[in-house]
Parts: sequence; C-alpha cells; structure tokens
Amino acid sequence: MKILFLDQSGKPGGAELCLIDIAKPYRDCALVGLFADGNFRKLLVQNHIPVEVLTNQSIAVRKQSNLLQAFASVGQLAPLITKVVKIAYQYDLIYANTQKALVVGAIASIITRRPLVYHLHDILSSEHFSQTNLRIAINLANHCASLVIANSQASRTAFIQAGGKPEITEVVYNGFEPQNYHTSNDEIQKIRQQLGLENKFVVGHFSRLSPWKGQHILIAALAQLPPQVTVILVGDALFGEQDYVEQLHQQIAQLGLENRVKFLGFRADIPQLMAACNLVTHTSTAPEPFGRVIVEAMLCGTPVVAAKAGGAVELVEQGVNGFLVTPGEPQALAQVINTCIQETEITAKIATQARDIASQRFHVANINQQIAQLISHLQGNRK
Ligand code: UDP
Repeated sequence: MKILFLDQSGKPGGAELCLIDIAKPYRDCALVGLFADGNFRKLLVQNHIPVEVLTNQSIAVRKQSNLLQAFASVGQLAPLITKVVKIAYQYDLIYANTQKALVVGAIASIITRRPLVYHLHDILSSEHFSQTNLRIAINLANHCASLVIANSQASRTAFIQAGGKPEITEVVYNGFEPQNYHTSNDEIQKIRQQLGLENKFVVGHFSRLSPWKGQHILIAALAQLPPQVTVILVGDALFGEQDYVEQLHQQIAQLGLENRVKFLGFRADIPQLMAACNLVTHTSTAPEPFGRVIVEAMLCGTPVVAAKAGGAVELVEQGVNGFLVTPGEPQALAQVINTCIQETEITAKIATQARDIASQRFHVANINQQIAQLISHLQGNRK
C-alpha cells in the first residue's frame, strides 16, 4: 500500500513523533509531505522515511482563526493543493496527520478519488480551536475521510460531541518501542553529574513551553517542596510562546527558585533524561488529547504524576501505574510529590508496574498492527 502522509509542521511535536512510528513500516513506498521545513524533516530522514517539504510559504490560519481568515488562506493554499494532487495520484491513500493537512488532503482526496484517513491528535473543543476551525475540521472529516483515527477516547468523544461521525472513528493510542527507554545506571549517573543533579530529588517536566502545558503549576508547587527538590524543564517554546517563557523566569525569580529550576531546551535524549529523574510530572491545565510524555515516563520506570483530564485518565490508574492530580492545583501536586519522596518503596513498585503494563499496552508493534488492519479494511471496501 502506497501512502502519502501529510503534516503541516516542520517541528517535532507529539503528533509528528507519532507519525514517525506510523510511517516507518511503509517507508519503502510512502512519502511524508510537510508544509514547513524544520527538525521534523531531519528526524524523518534519520529514520529513512522519504520526505518532501511541499511549500516554503507559511500558512496563515491559526487555531483561533475566524471565517474570513480561513477563506483568505484558501487562495494561499492553491499552489500547495495543486502539488499535493499531482503527487497523490501516485499513491493509494492520503493520510492527514494535522488539521491543515486535513484541509489540503480532503481536497486532494476528492480530486484524485484516493481514500483519506485523518489522524486526530487534538481534542476538538472551543478551549483550543475557533468555531470556524472546528466546523471546517468536522465537516471535512465527516464528508471526505473514510476513517478518523483518534489518539484517545477523549479525542474521539470531543470529535463526536462537536458533530463528528462516530461510525468512521476508531481509537488507536500512540505506539512506543520499549527497548528505546532502557538506560543503564552508569548513563543515569553521568547525566545527573553533567547537569549538577547529584543528591537532588529531580522532578522532570517534558513538554513544549506553553501556558496550557502548565509549567507554572509545577514551579508554584516547587515553592512548597523541600530544598533538595530540583526541577528540570525539558522543551522549547515550539509555537512562539516566548511571553510565557518570560513569565516563567519571572515567577521563578519572584519565588527565589533560580537555583532549583533548570531550563534544558528541546532535547532528543528524552529516555535518558526521564530515567535520570526521580519523578516526571505532567501538568496540563486543559485536557490532554493523549500525553506521550506520560507513557514515556512509565517506559523509563520513572514514577509519573499526571493532570487528571482528557487522555491522561485513560493512561494512568491512580495508585496502580501512576498518580493523578486535579489540573491547575499546585498544592495538590506538591502533596503528591511529597508523598512520592517519603513513600519510596510503594512509589518504586508503582513505577515498575507502570513499565510492565506500558510495554505491552503501547508496544509500537501492536499499535502498528491495529493501524494496518484499519487501513486494510479501507482498501477492501474500495475494491
Ligand atoms: N519531546 C522531545 N523533546 C523535548 C520535549 C518533548 O522530544 O525537549 C517529546 C516528548 O518526549 C513527547 C513529545 O515531545 O514524545 C510531546 O508529546 P505529548 O503528547 O506529550 O505532547 P504534544 O506535544 O503532542 O502536545
């Protein structure tokens, strides 16, 4: 099966990292078409997945765009659509991995009569998207997609609540290669030494720096924790949220926590860094569609505390494979972290259980099999 994958981003966010795993089994006869250049293209090349940047023009539509802005962008999209249509004739299936990819992919699918799959990595609600964007996404998915793959039950439910067709929507979680998350003790010691984290209780946060990812909640919690607790913030402001980064620095200065917070920027060695943490926190203040970082922490054998909303609730069972806290409440978060510091034995047991469960439940081989099955049904229906 020849698949044309489409993704609007040049930057490797969660949806893009997930696409690498999905595209890999098809790499001998697939192409990933990107609407922007960047590190994501480099990662695809490293994984020997054919990739082409299809436009150098940035697309003006944002998550909160209104109808007028959305219409204005259609003209801007015309050369890109023409290019995608031409390429799509050489493929059996179009696989749109982001919302703008859905728009372009849907039009190309109508013209070329190739089936369209939409991989939904978002909770389509007004918390994140303008009404215009929501309507466009739902209508295109309903009318043009043969299959919508939602990355969690939470994403599927929001899609259906916004008017999406339930009968074309299936839930498939992100897949991971458990082997990639094993780090030796020597390596862990080396990292802790390099980062000056010896004798610290290290709490890690792994996410782009963005208000709804809630790094400020962890900082506020840190102010209530004992002095040996140090926070590492791993990730960058991927989508221009520089103001938020500034606010974080101010908050840290006001609380006098300069020596207890380290900004590490975007890193490619997530498994090693997570293994070097005593605890990983997920603090999103809005429901997380999936939450790759939660599963990754589990695979590293590091205890994880997640904000109780959206997909995170499907990943974490309180006290079995992790801990859940009410989103947006630093005090509750501080309390859980304190419990983990004190109750080391039970916390370690939960982390081991989490690793065992996650290695099975999210194994990339199982997940890819689910996707292959869904796609093969589409092909069967087309004949
Ligand atoms: N990530 C990374 N380097 C960083 C910070 C994050 O590679 O410096 C990865 C992280 O390991 C995870 C992904 O980015 O795989 C983020 O996915 P998640 O589902 O947690 O959030 P999203 O970005 O999709 O909102």
